[in-house]
Amino acid sequence: MFNKVLVVDDNKNNIRLLTDILEDEKYEVYSTEKATEAIEMTHSNKPDIILLDIMMPEMDGFEVCKQLKSDYEIKDIPVIMVTAKTDTADLKSALDLGAFDYIKKPIDEIEVIARIQSALRFKQQQDKLKEMASKDGLTGVFNHALLIDLFEKEYLKQQRNQGDLSFVMLDIDYFKKVNDTYGHTTGDLILRELSDILSNSSRTGDIVGRYGGEEFSLVLPDTNSENAFKLCERIRKTVENYDFFTGKEHIKITVSMGICTKQPCDSILSSEMIIKADEALYIAKQNGRNQVKSMLLIM
Ligand code: GH3
Ligand code: MG
Ligand code: MG
Repeated sequence: MFNKVLVVDDNKNNIRLLTDILEDEKYEVYSTEKATEAIEMTHSNKPDIILLDIMMPEMDGFEVCKQLKSDYEIKDIPVIMVTAKTDTADLKSALDLGAFDYIKKPIDEIEVIARIQSALRFKQQQDKLKEMASKDGLTGVFNHALLIDLFEKEYLKQQRNQGDLSFVMLDIDYFKKVNDTYGHTTGDLILRELSDILSNSSRTGDIVGRYGGEEFSLVLPDTNSENAFKLCERIRKTVENYDFFTGKEHIKITVSMGICTKQPCDSILSSEMIIKADEALYIAKQNGRNQVKSMLLIM
């Protein structure tokens, strides 16, 4: 896959020059002479890097950079300012606004490529660190810390919007026996496949995380008790019928789930919702496992 570059410059010749240099190096180039189109093009083309001229008539590069950096979805795309300005105060302003680097005009071919490559390397490392900090290493779903963080954000959002919010705690039935029978590596493989089932069963906006060990949680925004139950039942049946294949053995497992749903009129805290979902899970286990239980809130 080629790296995509967006070039924003009010001068056609500059765009032509940069495009030629970049295309020679097999970059995919998008460009615009209108600073006002830069944000929209960034959203639609999703470039890996942006080359941004400073002096432009409708809106200068500083303003474009400021807008790029305040937009949550695109703020992490590295911006390199391309400028004839040699005033170091201006260059400092660009870096203070969040630009990664700058290139001075007249453009030097080798320098442009070197600076782009350095920015892309930095971005790759940053993405990797971000992923490591948010995802569970074994299963790829959100880790405990981020799960709780995202749950709390969703809790506040539903409180503002007066919506329903469901929290689900899921635990594998007799998982210790799976480990004892087939070994820990096979247990790990099952945890990974179960995570895939959970991610594939959830809808856009749902949050799937590993609460810890063999326990997973789902955060279901705008989901009332009835719909949360339906979703969990669907997951329960999918797992029950799924053939976990290790390459040697075919293994069957089941899961139990506990749900706590908060309606706008309930005054329960987010931490209490987790406790209630855990209590519902405990009842599901007591009642024979391989089942879903909802905790009714009587506040
Ligand atoms: P229950 O139906 O009551 O939940 O029984 P259980 O055996 O699943 O419950 P228990 O809590 O006794 O055992 C959980 C097991 O999950 C024990 C532990 O070794 C296993 N486990 C936790 N984390 C991991 C992991 O990362 N990998 C593997 N392979 N096993 C794990
Ligand atoms: Mg457990
Ligand atoms: Mg268990």
